[in-house]
Amino acid sequence: MLLRARVVLPISAPPIFGGAVRVLGNRVTALGRAADLPALPGEEVRELGEVALLPGLINAHCHLDYSTLRNAITAPAGFTEWVQRLNSIKRQLSNDDILDAIQRGYTEAQRFGTTTICSMAAFPDLVPQLPPAPLRTWWFYEMIDIRHRITSEEVVTGALSFFETRKDGLTQFGLNPHAPYTASLLLYRLARVCAEQNGMPLTTHVSESLEESEMFENGSGPLHQFLEGLQRPMHDCGHDTPFGWLWRNGAIGKDWLLAHLNDLKASDFSLLETLSPDQFPHVVHCPGSHAYFNHPPFPFTKLAGLGLNICVGTDSLASTDSLSLLGELRKLQLREPALSAEDLLHTVTLAPARALGKAGELGCLEPGALADLIAIPCVGPVEQAAAECVAFTGFVPWMMVDGKISTFETL
Ligand SMILES: [Zn+2]
Repeated sequence: MLLRARVVLPISAPPIFGGAVRVLGNRVTALGRAADLPALPGEEVRELGEVALLPGLINAHCHLDYSTLRNAITAPAGFTEWVQRLNSIKRQLSNDDILDAIQRGYTEAQRFGTTTICSMAAFPDLVPQLPPAPLRTWWFYEMIDIRHRITSEEVVTGALSFFETRKDGLTQFGLNPHAPYTASLLLYRLARVCAEQNGMPLTTHVSESLEESEMFENGSGPLHQFLEGLQRPMHDCGHDTPFGWLWRNGAIGKDWLLAHLNDLKASDFSLLETLSPDQFPHVVHCPGSHAYFNHPPFPFTKLAGLGLNICVGTDSLASTDSLSLLGELRKLQLREPALSAEDLLHTVTLAPARALGKAGELGCLEPGALADLIAIPCVGPVEQAAAECVAFTGFVPWMMVDGKISTFETL
């Protein structure tokens, strides 16, 4: 099949005015100027018109499970209060509520141009009950051992049996020791071994809030008080920053997708400066959720300056207003006006593809890439095509996932 568009925006190469992309099965096999890429005898040709054709967007951090909780928790006094209110809401949700939330989340993400999503699985038992995934999905099994430290191994065994339950074409798995305040060092280390043996990516939440920092650095504050009340052993508090604690204890390391890193301290930057690029973790920033919690400013420039790979995610609808990645980019742009539209698109294409070990296959248009593409209306000069995409607020009118086309009417 030959796709023709006013502009082809490969992301990994300069834009092509009057471009064409050839797709065979679920792969891109060629792209270039339409004039240089004539249709083959009998080949189906799709004229997409006044659009930019670009790789589908990748959401590097989401919780599809909470997609019915938009505006459910308004104006919490702090992060701990939000966690407590989320926990109380979660206890009232039925399995059907959660399955419904996941489907709604998929639809919303897809309408806004997401073709790959990294979703934390707080209810992994339900994942096998889902119909085949409409998007490329990494389900990250959420691992928590706050109350029963002795059963960390059992948590891992549970995770392993979960991965055997389901594999469809678009679904893959990773591990998510939840956060340093809910997962023990032992659980982190077990997750790491398990993921390495199975070739799975790893993610965690770390240095997200001031309250998490206060707990780990000073052994005090509302999060400390709340978790102590739940009988969590608190001997890991009062020593280090959350990031420093996990890193120096070998709980996290290279290639982890670290969500948030909002409240990094001078000692954290000193630690990062000692690392060589092949030891770097990846970073996931969630601008809408960040603003909702009024977290300390995300150190985009400093982390990028060190050479870290920064991805953007939406987080869940329990702490942001939409699953639109372009919307998240516009929020980031407000805080980081020096970033170009190309820089912004990088964080939802090439950067997360690299973090998932899929460079050259996802987040780019080049021969050999998986055929995940979206079209966004584009009528201005070709050099403004990226900016026009970032500014686009509507539903994406056309997309292809794994070589299969869907249009807005079918979503
Ligand atoms: Zn999260």
